[in-house]
Amino acid sequence: MDHLDAMRSIVGVSNVLTGADAQAYETDWRERYRGRTLAVLRPGSTDEVAAIVRHCAQAAIPVVPQGGNTGLCGGATPDDSGRAVVLSLQRMNRVRGIDTDNDTMEVEAGCVLQAVQQAARDAGRLFPLSLAAEGSCTIGGNLATNAGGTQVLRYGNMRDLTLGLEVVTAQGEVWRGLRGLRKDNTGYDLRDLFIGSEGTLGVITAATLKLYPLPVARCTALLALDSIEAATAMLGRARAGFGAALTGFELMAGNCLQMVTRRFPQQRLPFDGASAELPWFALLELSDSESEAHARERFESVLGEAIEAGCVADAVIAGSLAQSQALWHLRESIPLAEKEIGKSIKHDVSIPISRMAEFVEGTDAALDEAFPGIVHVIFGHLGDGNLHYNVARGADWSEDRLLSRQQDVYALVHDRVHAVGGSISAEHGIGQLKRDALPRYKDPVEMALMHRIKATLDPRGIMNPGKLLG
Ligand code: FAD
Ligand code: ZN
Repeated sequence: MDHLDAMRSIVGVSNVLTGADAQAYETDWRERYRGRTLAVLRPGSTDEVAAIVRHCAQAAIPVVPQGGNTGLCGGATPDDSGRAVVLSLQRMNRVRGIDTDNDTMEVEAGCVLQAVQQAARDAGRLFPLSLAAEGSCTIGGNLATNAGGTQVLRYGNMRDLTLGLEVVTAQGEVWRGLRGLRKDNTGYDLRDLFIGSEGTLGVITAATLKLYPLPVARCTALLALDSIEAATAMLGRARAGFGAALTGFELMAGNCLQMVTRRFPQQRLPFDGASAELPWFALLELSDSESEAHARERFESVLGEAIEAGCVADAVIAGSLAQSQALWHLRESIPLAEKEIGKSIKHDVSIPISRMAEFVEGTDAALDEAFPGIVHVIFGHLGDGNLHYNVARGADWSEDRLLSRQQDVYALVHDRVHAVGGSISAEHGIGQLKRDALPRYKDPVEMALMHRIKATLDPRGIMNPGKLLG
């Protein structure tokens, strides 16, 4: 029996895709990577995943796990050898159960994030992970990349939101670690090892996630700001004034919002005159557990003081849920608008907030000098010190010319990130995109330990080769 027949006998004929049917799985969301696969396999259960991995381990067939294929680092795309199988978890999309007394839910890896948020809401709870790809990314992909998004400031990233995992190891065993415990000191933390491992150690098939109370009221505002210093000062004021009720602080450069309103004319910036021309905008959100009136009073008092002190140049407070959604929509449309103007060079960096202004001003100036005419596309989760510091082509740059300078741009930006004590990946992961840059910035002992862990857990090297560690 050849390998494809063996796979068909495990998952069924209709769940082994080849040729044209496999194409969509062979390219990443940004269309930066294109690979070829032996077949796309769509298992429907943990046991089927385990049987596939056992077969692949025996036959030394590389396995590339894939969820919603929205990752931004090429982590879910096979290489072009045509030897690897893509293991799509999309059919494993059941919410297995919700325990409202324990505030936990058990979900399969292929559940789309938005469906998980909705299931939690239907049970009167909040599952807080929130990001622009939530309509198609999956819990498995969120876990494998330790995804962040717009609520990390208050609730943490995927690692903070997960209590237990079910994992198929690289040998095809099933680790049933779906514990819903907040405290469990029984040795090495394998859960946190698999979270963020980008499919290189095993296949995540299910998870036990933490749930939170739904906020009673939310206030959202768009702030117009003169400088990054003003934005970080405002973040400090919001932290002090709102405490744990501060659930969002997103930064956007003025040109990002102009890009959105040009690309999607039905969206508009709620400022005009001089405020609309300011260089920076921030989306501020407070979530209150008491009442609408209580939320509004706190919100207006902190904002009023900030405006009086000259920290905020102008502000628009959403007066309704629809207005609040429109403000968030502006923020969330930036990656889509950016995609429309052509391929860009993306940096997903983490910077200590205290050095944010120094980093942005210094790196902007160094890039302008080395690559005159490029366009800066800067936005991100300022509350977490996480910027999407992207570089796009200007009018006199072709896409090819920009991409031919990619390695030089990375080196310039990442060297500066490193110099201020930052990280070259805040939330998107390493994948293929930053694999070669990683050893340059990571502690050599830490790199060596990671290689040893990989060799121990995946001795045949079948799990997502060429990603993260190479
Ligand atoms: P995929 O792209 O399918 O896979 C991503 C990685 O996880 C790959 O290495 C893959 O091999 C591995 N993987 C997938 N499933 C499994 C599994 N079950 N077991 C083991 N490994 C697995 N990310 C953020 O953190 N914050 C953001 O704000 C954010 N915004 C985004 C906005 C847009 C418009 C887009 C397109 C992406 C954004 N992302 C963001 C990127 C983010 O990493 C993904 O959206 C998401 O977390 C990946 O989920 P996925 O199911 O699409 O994974
Ligand atoms: Zn992000």
